[in-house]
Amino acid sequence: MKIHSIFSSLQGEGRFQGIPTLFVRLYGCNLRCSYCDVFDAVEGESCFEMSAKEVFGKIKEYDFYDVCITGGEPMCQKNELYDLLRVIGKNRRISLETNGSFDLTELSELFPEVYLSIDWKTPGSGKESFCLENIASLKKGGRGWIKFVVSSKEDLHYISKKLHLLGDIEVFISPEFEKGQGLFKKTADFVKSGKNTRMQLQLHKIIGID
Ligand code: SF4
Repeated sequence: MKIHSIFSSLQGEGRFQGIPTLFVRLYGCNLRCSYCDVFDAVEGESCFEMSAKEVFGKIKEYDFYDVCITGGEPMCQKNELYDLLRVIGKNRRISLETNGSFDLTELSELFPEVYLSIDWKTPGSGKESFCLENIASLKKGGRGWIKFVVSSKEDLHYISKKLHLLGDIEVFISPEFEKGQGLFKKTADFVKSGKNTRMQLQLHKIIGID
């Protein structure tokens, strides 16, 4: 499988924000979002071929309870990703960060122990996309949550039109960090207005770590 990097840090977003986590960043992505902050993992030169067993060997060296598989877009290497999930086993808490454009039904059935952190790409990303089957997977008892990154007031309007589809699914709303205080405040006002969502800022960017 194509790997960009394996590194330890704090989880910057989602339900496990702030928890020490080992990240396995897979190389390659099917989207090209305007605000992509990991473009090196999309088209850059840092790309290593490793087998699932070799990646698992690295994971064991670090010995973290929390392991996050991220990208790029991990589902671009679906078969290799499944191989990795099979060898990791159940003694760790595994989360998978995905851009939401792929149908995750099969993955959530095969690996119900994996927490899915599913982005819903808004128009501000320049790559609006979301596979609606993923809502059914989460509602059927799949573990995970939906995350919206907000780039503008228009994105907040877009999100307000989608929330009714999500029922009790946990929803995180994260303003694009580089846009600063103005957008943070607009996002806070939106979340405060009773939409059953939770605002987050990307912790790793506030601290200035990977
Ligand atoms: S989906 Fe993620 S990795 Fe892919 S281009 Fe968008 S922000 Fe970058």
